[in-house]
Amino acid sequence: MEPVIVIGAGLAGCECAWQLARRGIPVVLHEMKPTKMTPAHHSEAFAELVCSNSLRSDQLENAVGLLKEELRCLGSLILACADTHRVEAGGALAVDRHGFARAVTQTVRNHPLITVVEGEVTALPEEGQVVVASGPLTSDALSAHIQARYPQQHSLNFYDAAAPLVTFESVDMEQAWFASRYDKGTADYINCALTAQEYAAFWEALCQAEEAPVHGFEDSGVFEGCMPVEVMARRGVDTLRYGPLKPRGLKDPKTGQEPYAVVQLRRDNAEGSIYNLVGFQTHLKWPEQRRVFSMIPALKNAEFVRYGVMHRNTYLDSPRLLDRYYRVRTEPRICFAGQITGVEGYVESTASGCLAAIELARRLEGKKPADFPRETAIGALALYVSDESVVDFQPMNVNFGIIPPLGYKVKGRGKRNKNAELSRRALSALALVET
Ligand SMILES: Cc1cc2nc3c(=O)[nH]c(=O)nc-3n(C[C@H](O)[C@H](O)[C@H](O)COP(=O)(O)OP(=O)(O)OC[C@H]3O[C@@H](n4cnc5c(N)ncnc54)[C@H](O)[C@@H]3O)c2cc1C
Repeated sequence: MEPVIVIGAGLAGCECAWQLARRGIPVVLHEMKPTKMTPAHHSEAFAELVCSNSLRSDQLENAVGLLKEELRCLGSLILACADTHRVEAGGALAVDRHGFARAVTQTVRNHPLITVVEGEVTALPEEGQVVVASGPLTSDALSAHIQARYPQQHSLNFYDAAAPLVTFESVDMEQAWFASRYDKGTADYINCALTAQEYAAFWEALCQAEEAPVHGFEDSGVFEGCMPVEVMARRGVDTLRYGPLKPRGLKDPKTGQEPYAVVQLRRDNAEGSIYNLVGFQTHLKWPEQRRVFSMIPALKNAEFVRYGVMHRNTYLDSPRLLDRYYRVRTEPRICFAGQITGVEGYVESTASGCLAAIELARRLEGKKPADFPRETAIGALALYVSDESVVDFQPMNVNFGIIPPLGYKVKGRGKRNKNAELSRRALSALALVET
């Protein structure tokens, strides 16, 4: 059998290659690292997590928790490696990013049906089955080729931001304490309190701090899910206190009271030696990050091991380009997978790689499509991304809004019960899908 060509060994590309190979289909996986690096990738490993080490909620009352469970049911490599390398993070699935990436890389490289080819791909191969999983930071040459190849559709650029990392040693634990919000799960977050006065000074400094120049960046173009903390701050004095600095459900053990504002730090590696500032994606100049973030009392002597950065993010106008199998409608031998399709997030990118591979494998084996139903999170995401009625297409995290309602009332009150029921229905529907 002719090998399938997969471009990009990120989350979507590795998942896709693995799902094809485990079905007996040979794969040639092209990855430009380390010969050429994107502005956000730093390691040679595949499936590098470029920002947060959290794959978000792992609970079935949450749509991304459901998507994870579906991926586990589908034998996902990314989820298996994430589960093996998880670090404590309350109800979320966070991972030791290096252990995780190493495990994915080894499994992919060691698979006898996967051949890895190093180097940048600058144009789509003119023959064979191709999956483009080159991510939000697809190299310029390949982006230009894709744009020229599908001129009636357009790919769009915008910017994403990453949060800084600090060493645990440098956090002043006299001014901070371990806890999870509402004491849910284990006490995994470091909580750094600010008084009203400290918050006011911090907010003012943040609003006035100097940003790094980013060509073409405008507040209005910022993707809401990854908004820089300084942009959020400028929206109003209390905006941060309803966002990343929300104090609700956190009592300072020193006072027994909810502080005025709280910055949370989440463990970034298995050893617990590095923590990230939750929700502090930023594109301030680096010395400004040090100056302003050190105004948080527990971080006054913080040692920054990585500063926040801001990058381009490229995605297709998929509703006009792709079908529910992530194939180009006018050229079905070409598939896209991952963030470039406009799914947003690590788990969503993985899910699109998984679905694209399963459907492609079935086609190559002469079987009918799996057609993941809309009731499943993985199916709903693909159907949303390829839905022509979506006019102003924006990258989309998985959410229960794209899954059809139950059509009946769930006993007991609250959204959590309803969401849990939607998840139960999804997993039952998934069990009936022939993959
Ligand atoms: C700065 C930044 C921060 C982000 N933070 C988060 C976050 O905190 N949480 C979250 O859920 N999502 C985040 N995202 C969004 C997204 O989920 C991730 O980018 C995710 O890694 C996407 O997976 P992917 O497989 O589509 O792409 P990637 O993981 O980026 O993989 C693409 C691979 O393709 C390679 N490649 C690119 N061009 C070529 C070429 N021409 N030839 C060969 N190889 C090529 C790249 O080197 C890379 O290894 C962030 C995105 C960015 C840009």
